[in-house]
Amino acid sequence: MRVQRIFYCCLIGILLVACKEVRKITDVVTNPTARELYSRNFPRDSQDFKNWQGDFERALLDSLIIELPYAEKGISDSMQNRTVGYRFLLQEGSLLNVQAKTDSISQPVFLDLLQIHSDSLSTSDIIKSNDPATKNLEYQVEITGRYLLVVQPAIGFTGKIDLILYTTPSFGFPVAGKDYSAIHSFWGAERDGGARSHEGVDIFAARGTPVVAVKDGRVTFTGNRGLGGKQVWLREGLLGKSIYYAHLDSILIRNGSRVKSGDTLGLVGNTGNARTTAPHLHFGVYANGRGAIDPLPFIQQADSVYMGSISEPIYPKVVVSGSVANLRRSPTTKGTKVGTVQRNDTLTVLGHTQNWGHVRLQNGQRAYIHRSLISPL
Ligand SMILES: [Zn+2]
Repeated sequence: MRVQRIFYCCLIGILLVACKEVRKITDVVTNPTARELYSRNFPRDSQDFKNWQGDFERALLDSLIIELPYAEKGISDSMQNRTVGYRFLLQEGSLLNVQAKTDSISQPVFLDLLQIHSDSLSTSDIIKSNDPATKNLEYQVEITGRYLLVVQPAIGFTGKIDLILYTTPSFGFPVAGKDYSAIHSFWGAERDGGARSHEGVDIFAARGTPVVAVKDGRVTFTGNRGLGGKQVWLREGLLGKSIYYAHLDSILIRNGSRVKSGDTLGLVGNTGNARTTAPHLHFGVYANGRGAIDPLPFIQQADSVYMGSISEPIYPKVVVSGSVANLRRSPTTKGTKVGTVQRNDTLTVLGHTQNWGHVRLQNGQRAYIHRSLISPL
């Protein structure tokens, strides 16, 4: 009997492994997402599949709204619907990083990033998905705007999902040994009494501090001209951004050179119209056909967030301990109110941030409640 059971377990295992490899010749062209590949394992008319698909579609509509960086510690819950949509803003030039972690590595989690163009979203708005072999997603943001991440585990998933979302700059920092704190003038600041606005950022450093390539690329201009004085222009790839370094004290690279990220291009100075100010680098980024764009997200190290800063979860079932508690769409007291609960109402918590519980209501709706207002059942 026992041998038979082992045999059947092995057989199911082999079938599951085989199923995961359902690949089609057209995949090379259509490049299916991890979700799509996984969903081929299930008949379209099976109830499990319909529910799973329905959960995804609900997450497109009923999404939480978060700010990055975001960390949520998951709580194990036996209920099936763990599919969640998170909406947030992203800025061109930053790199989105998403990491999901589960108790067991073998259970897949699908991460699908959608760009929000309108209120009606569908799978055709997916712009990036995780690689089937990982629970991570990385995305280079090309358009500043609103995005939605749907986090959906496999059918029959048990356990918890820890989630971290944060951005990193897509360029290195242009002045050696300096960071964000050396930027003293930002994009859009008034210039010439309001006649024009600042089309870059100013990074202050001692005269002679090296300025470095923020990306691999090719030097497309070096010389001394106009407002920028001694300057270097670098281009990343053929259609990439043009990167502008101005007011240099000296130029240490030849026009046409190929450079690697971190290579020295020149030294900080105050040439051009910076003659009367302290030495600084004027740093600009220009997009093809659009002119100057805000360079800050390309070089700004965003706040970091650690799972370790979140205290251990309470339990999946909690009661409301305040007399009335607000449910919000965002984990902040400024978040849109989506409802209220009363003392002793029970809620299901799927995870929490440092101060807020992420709850699922009876009707399936998602919301946040402040942790001070709930206690273990
Ligand atoms: Zn400037």
